[in-house]
Amino acid sequence: MTKESTALYVVPTPLGHLGDMTQRAIEVLRQVPWVAAEDTRHSTPLLRHYGSNARLLAAHRHNEEGAAQQVITRLAAGESVALVVDAGTPGVSDPGARLVARVRAAGYRVVPLPGPCAAVVALSAAGLGDAHFLFYGFLPSKAGQRAEALRQLAPLPYALVFYEAPHRIVEAVAALAEAFGPGRTLVLARELTKLFESIHACPLGEAQEWLLADANRQRGEFVLVVSGAPPAAEGGAGERVLRLLLDDGLPVSQATRLAHAITGAGRKALYQQALCLQEAGEAVAAHRAAATSTRQS
Ligand code: SAM
Repeated sequence: MTKESTALYVVPTPLGHLGDMTQRAIEVLRQVPWVAAEDTRHSTPLLRHYGSNARLLAAHRHNEEGAAQQVITRLAAGESVALVVDAGTPGVSDPGARLVARVRAAGYRVVPLPGPCAAVVALSAAGLGDAHFLFYGFLPSKAGQRAEALRQLAPLPYALVFYEAPHRIVEAVAALAEAFGPGRTLVLARELTKLFESIHACPLGEAQEWLLADANRQRGEFVLVVSGAPPAAEGGAGERVLRLLLDDGLPVSQATRLAHAITGAGRKALYQQALCLQEAGEAVAAHRAAATSTRQS
């Protein structure tokens, strides 16, 4: 690595499948003399697996300032450093942001590499029609704070992406259903890239029962993706009528016309809402069909 390319390289590492390391990430880990790692004991075997003999320094949540100083000292000596966390992308619900900021403020280059990130992997397979998503990460663990956070998120018309620990998965799903209502689609992406990977979609109101039906469904690491709130159709009556009509199989345009005639709610907002409701219903149906065909094969 030349003097010019001296930098802090931000290197994502696999979520589980060792084959998910990019060629470039492997090359960087082999070339840098130093790796700043969230957990040096965890990362040592990973680095050796990819043929890296870099020396490690600890950069975890509780020493980011000190670690940043150590990294800057190495960079000042012309030695590049790679930053890794236990799994996935540094700085995404993981340490790294403060270290990166300090290094950039000290005038050194920060070079991010693309790679595994559980939120993005889950989104890529969620199959929700939302044009936008909001990455939230971990919800507060205390029930009251979690309920308040969810209350604020409930009206947003974006797919919402959460990280959750296995010991809280059942209560988190119950809290989501309580805050968002039973109708929005939930995608539970579990153990991504690992042996027991599973991706299950269902209406929020059915998710807790599905989890409780089999203890294995509550094991491992989870990303939860919830479809965005449908646009408000001037109060609840319009939505209730729309749901009934769409559930009865009426096409969107006819359901909109009737819901407008029955409730007086705005035709345009009703139409948008009907499209969202239909899309969410189709996503659930498609996932159910796929789950059935997987079980049969
Ligand atoms: N920085 C990481 C990233 O880029 O995804 C996230 C680290 S955060 C401390 C750990 C959380 O990510 C887990 O609790 C889980 O919610 C999610 N996660 C990590 N690996 C996962 C996997 N293989 N399958 C599903 N979720 C995963």
